[in-house]
Amino acid sequence: MHAVLDALNAQADEFIAVRRDIHRHPELGFQEHRTSDLVAERLAQWGYAVERGLGGTGLVGQLRRGSGTKRLGLRGEMDALPIVEATGLAHASCHAGVMHACGHDGHTVMVLAAAKYLAEKGEFNGTLNLIFQPAEEGLGGAKKMMDDGLFAKYPCDAVFAMHNMPGQPQGRLLLRDGAAMASSDNVSITLEGAGGHGALPHHAVDPVVAAASIVMALQTIVSRNVDPLQTAVVSVGALNAGKAGNVIPQTASLQLSVRSLDRDVRELLEQRIKALVHAQAESFGVRASIDYRRGYPVLVNTPAETEFARKVALELVGADRVELHARPLTASEDFAFMLEQVPGSYLLIGNGDGDSVGACMVHNPGYDFNDANLPLGAAYWALLAQRFLV
Ligand SMILES: [Zn+2]
Ligand SMILES: [Zn+2]
Repeated sequence: MHAVLDALNAQADEFIAVRRDIHRHPELGFQEHRTSDLVAERLAQWGYAVERGLGGTGLVGQLRRGSGTKRLGLRGEMDALPIVEATGLAHASCHAGVMHACGHDGHTVMVLAAAKYLAEKGEFNGTLNLIFQPAEEGLGGAKKMMDDGLFAKYPCDAVFAMHNMPGQPQGRLLLRDGAAMASSDNVSITLEGAGGHGALPHHAVDPVVAAASIVMALQTIVSRNVDPLQTAVVSVGALNAGKAGNVIPQTASLQLSVRSLDRDVRELLEQRIKALVHAQAESFGVRASIDYRRGYPVLVNTPAETEFARKVALELVGADRVELHARPLTASEDFAFMLEQVPGSYLLIGNGDGDSVGACMVHNPGYDFNDANLPLGAAYWALLAQRFLV
């Protein structure tokens, strides 16, 4: 076993306790006050220069060693989700309706445990920037930290982040260069017709029929407009209209989730959705208004940094436990904003598969981060820092 992993295994109990403490006290995006207090306190204890208040509750811990000029960024995210926890575990959430159901408690503590190791035993030469971001779940905490000058104040030659993945064997490391996670845009469409009596449709302009036709027409964008060798998703997740069978409503509304793994495909989807909705609406005599909100961009891992991250994975756990060319995902991640400015790579770590508890999918009320990954994830960060900052 690798010496760094041995050292982190020896501290596993301490950090499992910290992870479970954070799990018991989950906080929603931009409200991570207790969590960031805990992280800041410990980093300061170990000799890191800590700056708080980047992106609200975000913080950076910096440690310099030697005369090296290289600068590394490692990202952990701190926010929880508005989910009622149903794990029944002793360390289950004590905040009603809030839950660490994406494992960000584990991600935070993996970076924290690496921070301690690197401060006490780390052999590196350069600047280590540990970035603890708020609000990854939909609110773009990474972007907020960048808007507050994250990379101007803490320039990085490369940034890395890691997310757990249920359904993959515990501890398996999965890497990929190029597009690895999808862009995610949210679209709200309102159709305005003219309400009336259900018995007299000829005196009304029915937005329900228009909405139904639009739902079907939208299916042709992926099947007919997008290159078959590209990836795209157009999902209509909400369709609302009317309250009674004998009333033609005045309005109907649709909400869409639109995803892609390519910047040009993302443009095409927006252009086609807008054109198709307006043309369909016009053909039914209803008026359409579209609120097209761009969310997280495509997450693109740069080749050189991903190659470096692969080498670290192979050194730490060996080829049997590393997937060098993993499949991309249609989920999204706001670390994508960081990768638009700084080269780097985002990798996955298996949370458990088959019948194991770690196999429960993230965002499910039964999910829990697999504590067996704490020493492994921390060892990965510690080794990566030592290999990068030379
Ligand atoms: Zn999540
Ligand atoms: Zn997550």
